[in-house]
Amino acid sequence: MNLSQAQAADIPVIEQLLGEGVFRDIKPEELPKDGDIIIACADGDRIFDTLFHHRGLCEGGRPCHHLLSLNSGPLLLPVDSPTARYAEGVILLEHALGGRKLKGVNTVHLYGHWPCGAAGLANLSLVECLTLLGSAKERLLDFFRSFDDPPKVIPLFHVHFVHSGEQMRSYYFDRHHFAKVMKVPAGRNWRSSRIAA
Ligand SMILES: [Zn+2]
Repeated sequence: MNLSQAQAADIPVIEQLLGEGVFRDIKPEELPKDGDIIIACADGDRIFDTLFHHRGLCEGGRPCHHLLSLNSGPLLLPVDSPTARYAEGVILLEHALGGRKLKGVNTVHLYGHWPCGAAGLANLSLVECLTLLGSAKERLLDFFRSFDDPPKVIPLFHVHFVHSGEQMRSYYFDRHHFAKVMKVPAGRNWRSSRIAA
């Protein structure tokens, strides 16, 4: 099954999450405009779409977007991330801390996306990716709390629709509502909240 086919099978889930309000359209007026750190998947086919769109949403604000990008991006952050091979999550946390000091920004945007090749290599479903994205926010907040007041952390999700005319959308992701709708525990430890196969 290629990525497009996999995504077609996930369209009902995406539509359910949109209908339930787990995914919400991003309103530019609701985004912080004083610069940010972005943690995003390095996917060479998607990263510029995501960043250009994000920059447009933040137009008129401080044009400082401190990018930290590796394969699968924020999915690397949970302590037991299945997309991490070494200690990529710790490296991202340290660089987020450094980026905050370097740039004086107070917002971290976590960009998950679908379909994600790195998540596919780890055999992760869409729902598992979103569970990881929620856990990523928890871990980032925990990490910053051990140093200082945590920044504002906003999980976003970029979807590449291919089933009915190619289009791309980015949404807010409400992790608490997701956990409630999909009946999965929310938490920072991913495996403890993993959905049974
Ligand atoms: Zn990816």
